Amino acid sequence: MEEYQIKTKVVGVDISNDITTYAIVDIRGNILAKSSFHTTDFPDVNSFVTALSDNIVELVEANGGYETIRSIGVSSPSASSVSGCIENAANLPWKGIVPLAAMLRDRIGLAVGLSNDAHVSALGEYTFGCAHGMNNFIVLSIGVGLGSCFFSAGRDHEGHNGYAGEFGHTCVVNHGRKCGCGHEGCLEQYVAAAGIVTTAQELMAAGTPTLMRDLPKLTPRTIKKCCDQGDELAIEVYRRTGEMLGLGLANYASLVDPEAIILTGGISRAGKWLLEPAYQSFEEHVFGNLRGKVKMIVSQLTDSERDVLGASALAWSVPEYSLFK
Ligand SMILES: [Zn+2]
Repeated sequence: MEEYQIKTKVVGVDISNDITTYAIVDIRGNILAKSSFHTTDFPDVNSFVTALSDNIVELVEANGGYETIRSIGVSSPSASSVSGCIENAANLPWKGIVPLAAMLRDRIGLAVGLSNDAHVSALGEYTFGCAHGMNNFIVLSIGVGLGSCFFSAGRDHEGHNGYAGEFGHTCVVNHGRKCGCGHEGCLEQYVAAAGIVTTAQELMAAGTPTLMRDLPKLTPRTIKKCCDQGDELAIEVYRRTGEMLGLGLANYASLVDPEAIILTGGISRAGKWLLEPAYQSFEEHVFGNLRGKVKMIVSQLTDSERDVLGASALAWSVPEYSLFK
């Protein structure tokens, strides 16, 4: 029998619409080395994969070498862990079906796991964040879009095609605001970034005085600053947002019966202006036997940390494979 040296490190990659971050992460979740580049610099996916693999190799060689790395985990919008492909990503430069896991594996010679950002976020919270030890929970990501993932009985519920949890595209208003997905009244259009700005514009149209009129740019962050200064109309923007979010979450929780709902993404930093009305609306709409039993928690990990850590957890879940053995 040959002596087998266990590999104690993996590479976690987070592809987002603007930045791609990659890091070497050890078995305990320590980020040992990290770097990033602009996704948008590579409109051609072949040149993107070349750049990504060159960058990973460079980082790995400067930090202990190839033989210490077990595998690679990749988080991307619109990725399916079932197919190993990024499929019709609305906001990435590459269109159609991109077999990213196979492309990267062939280029780098190590096992590659790929999953979509919402699932990887949940895996990050489960392995290294505030969902640690929970078996049933929902992780929401509220930013430019609204994504979600839920764990059921200790397992990530992926669905038949790997797309379970498209919470942002559940309908909350019949014939409501138009959504990028082609439907109307999707929750995302009320609680993600553009939806919050639309709500502010609608409320401002009535002519009520508000600090929001003096803002150089209307964004969820600048609207939140107006709330902090006591601006009634800005507070109303977040109250309506929270009300809609709570309603959507009540439907979600009534189906899934989670121990907790963990909020991540830029919008979750709006604090009490969003969370208080959201929780109130949630309690109002959730199935009675769940009332008072579901925790709403804002993630303690930063968004960039969580995604790289989640991708590293994903890397551990793929069977080991190496061209060099
Ligand atoms: Zn939609």
